[in-house]
Amino acid sequence: MDLLIGVDVGGTTIAAGAVTATGEVVLEQRVPTRDRGPGRAVETIGALIDAIRGEAAHLGHALAAIGVGVPGPVDCLAGRIGEQVPHVPELAGRPLAAELAAKLALPVFVDNDVNALALGEWTFGAGRGARSLVVLAAGTGFGAGIVLDGRLVRGVAGFGGELGHTPVKFDGPPCWCGGRGCLAVYASGRGIAEAARARVAGHPGAPLLAAAGGDPLAITAPLVFRAAREGEPVASSVVDEACRALGAMLGTIVNGLNPEVVVITGGVAESLQPLETRIVKAAGEYAFRRALALTRVAIVPGDKRTSMRGAAALAGYETRQAARKGKP
Ligand SMILES: [Zn+2]
Repeated sequence: MDLLIGVDVGGTTIAAGAVTATGEVVLEQRVPTRDRGPGRAVETIGALIDAIRGEAAHLGHALAAIGVGVPGPVDCLAGRIGEQVPHVPELAGRPLAAELAAKLALPVFVDNDVNALALGEWTFGAGRGARSLVVLAAGTGFGAGIVLDGRLVRGVAGFGGELGHTPVKFDGPPCWCGGRGCLAVYASGRGIAEAARARVAGHPGAPLLAAAGGDPLAITAPLVFRAAREGEPVASSVVDEACRALGAMLGTIVNGLNPEVVVITGGVAESLQPLETRIVKAAGEYAFRRALALTRVAIVPGDKRTSMRGAAALAGYETRQAARKGKP
């Protein structure tokens, strides 16, 4: 059986997995991104793929293609990673797919990690069988990916689907992307932690600060969600805003794209799961009632395995696209 390899490139860890046609990760390896020292992530990715290929061969499996998800926009038309890859800066501007394909003598496809995740949910996960879906990935940052009528939406330069950096409040606070009022400011792990820290700054007696041992920097998104469940007022207000922001984005997606499925995933998704009813209710303030009613919303916690599976789905998707284009 030919396997697909999915590689997830993160700022701290690079994970590679061999994935079956049904989305099962049968082999996997992880190494620190800085394993070979700073600036050498490309060598690390190549070596990791080689190691998985060796393991697969040992078990009698051949490899069909490789997909790589990277944490930043990718200009797939030009075959280059964009200039904004703050977590792995040495990848900026690199023709990574061509470089790896030359080294490994296999088809290699590279895209933004959340585009890969969207293809993974569409091919193997909560959006399987749908014609259109939107994946929102709330992690430290906030990514998203869009599949419409059976095609991944990349846009003209690879920025398609960057819904985490579209405003849910047009005069909201500045975002680290240079915009303001972005969804990421309200609903990413970083945004939630920063909002809570800013609010306790004026309230030295806030129970949330005590829960963090008196150190504002020890306030994390999971701590904020936990404190909110216990009724802590600062945490509750931050979580309330996160739900409203996600509701507004859901309304935008439902009215703007009318997809069959919206999947909310990423590291923050587990904390959002018990809040699903609140988020969908908030969306009801903005969305057309019938469009929202027809949208299936699934909150699915994500991990490295779902990211690897997504990158493998990218390889499968691109292989199918290429075969289609090759037909007379
Ligand atoms: Zn932003």
